[in-house]
Amino acid sequence: MQTIHESFIASVEAEPGKVLFERPGLSDITYAQARDLTERFAAVLTEIGVRPGDRVAVQTEKSAEAICLYLAVLQVGGVYLPLNTAYTGAEIDYFLGDAAPRLFVCTPATLAAHKARESDGLRVESLGADADGSLMARALAASPRRDRVARAMSDHAAILYTSGTTGRSKGAVLTHGNLASNVAALLESWHYTGQDRLIHALPIFHTHGLFVAANMSIVAGATMIWLAKFDGEQAIDLMADATVLMGVPTFYTRLLKSGRLNRETTARMRLFVSGSAPLLAEDHRAFEDRTGHAILERYGMTETCMITTNPYDGARKPGAVGMPLPGIAIRVTDRETGASLPQGEIGAIEVKGPNVFEGYWQMPEKTASEFRKDGFFITGDLGQIGEDGYLRIVGRDKDLVISGGYNVYPKEIESLIDDLPGVVESAVIGLAHPDLGEGVTAIVVPQKGANLDEAGVIAALGDRLARYKQPKRVIFVEELPRNVMGKVQKAELRKRHADLYR
Ligand code: ATP
Ligand code: MG
Repeated sequence: MQTIHESFIASVEAEPGKVLFERPGLSDITYAQARDLTERFAAVLTEIGVRPGDRVAVQTEKSAEAICLYLAVLQVGGVYLPLNTAYTGAEIDYFLGDAAPRLFVCTPATLAAHKARESDGLRVESLGADADGSLMARALAASPRRDRVARAMSDHAAILYTSGTTGRSKGAVLTHGNLASNVAALLESWHYTGQDRLIHALPIFHTHGLFVAANMSIVAGATMIWLAKFDGEQAIDLMADATVLMGVPTFYTRLLKSGRLNRETTARMRLFVSGSAPLLAEDHRAFEDRTGHAILERYGMTETCMITTNPYDGARKPGAVGMPLPGIAIRVTDRETGASLPQGEIGAIEVKGPNVFEGYWQMPEKTASEFRKDGFFITGDLGQIGEDGYLRIVGRDKDLVISGGYNVYPKEIESLIDDLPGVVESAVIGLAHPDLGEGVTAIVVPQKGANLDEAGVIAALGDRLARYKQPKRVIFVEELPRNVMGKVQKAELRKRHADLYR
């Protein structure tokens, strides 16, 4: 196996003139040009004093240059630590304090403010989205550094913070082997090659945009159509000359809103991938009706890269996340005893394989409590492996509702509510209840102008759900709170409605 950086160089050498970044409205960047900039950054990083094992924290806008910086960090044996661009003040304090990087790269606009953080151990530089910033200026003046610090598959490549959907973000320490093995499994599973042209509209501070989309393209020698953000109409235009789109579910919800999404506009595309959060089964079906493409849904997390995928050849089932990638094992266990459960039963999803991270950065106890003795990692998600062998996720362990002593899995109720006429989407949560412990509560987003009321929703579910699963209350909202990754923040909903039954 090769590290991502070694594979990058192999892609450059195979076809130096090939375009790596195709940037609408801006000039293309070839593999050879990306290598040149990467090696300039490598020279600057060394000059600054980044040594093997040192963290380099990066909070910049999405840019091709930022990907070259990532590759340069790998080249010098550093540990890449990307940060969500939405984080501010106290959050940055936490991440920098926690990770103790040698270098922090911020935006040009925030450089002056962050310079105050500099100390003997920490340097601060900037990188802008327009090939600007202090680091960029230094890189352009530097001479490219060709040599690479040799790294073992067990060495640290990155610390990636989780999305913070269920609590404070944790730093997941990923090795070169984690990243490289996962890319190899994904390339094989999705038949991804140097012929592909990927519409890349995801952020690059998250596993989806960086360790799936970008890593796969760089290793395969493919071209990325590089977009700062997702715009449905623009994506449809680009589909005329692209092969793959990787998106979060909201991309697909937005595409479905366009009258131009149809068989003709998607005819050249070969694959649509969805992940990071559950794709509405209804969107899956509607997308296939409109375009003839069945969206391929996969499941993964920061700590493990990708775990399961629907098959490339074979049924891509709405509401299912498929089977483990090659080399990866999953099992479903009793969430209290940890005993393996028979097929069909709902329990904790556990995973083992070369994709699974080493541990949480500086959280040995947390790490120990999330691993079983035989090396399986407890994902924190609940699910079930059906008779068809497909994994289906029913929600997060932390979102499980326990009402009157019974387990209520939100997904089951949400699916029924989502199917009611006039409903856009829903989130089912448990709220403190004086008699039941937790009261099942449905938060529902109605379609504009829909004639829905609380009693109507409860009545519609009446003969389809056991009594203990039926929502006690239904609350209508215009939209669900989501984090930057498009994930519904149930913790936020629980907070907002904490006193409903009190
Ligand atoms: P935190 O761990 O900080 O609470 P997070 O779990 O949202 O945040 P990520 O690592 O970005 O952080 O997300 C991984 C989670 O996303 C998975 O554990 C799972 O709950 C969810 N997820 C990913 N893909 C899918 C999918 N296809 N269907 C349903 N859920 C998914
Ligand atoms: Mg998580």
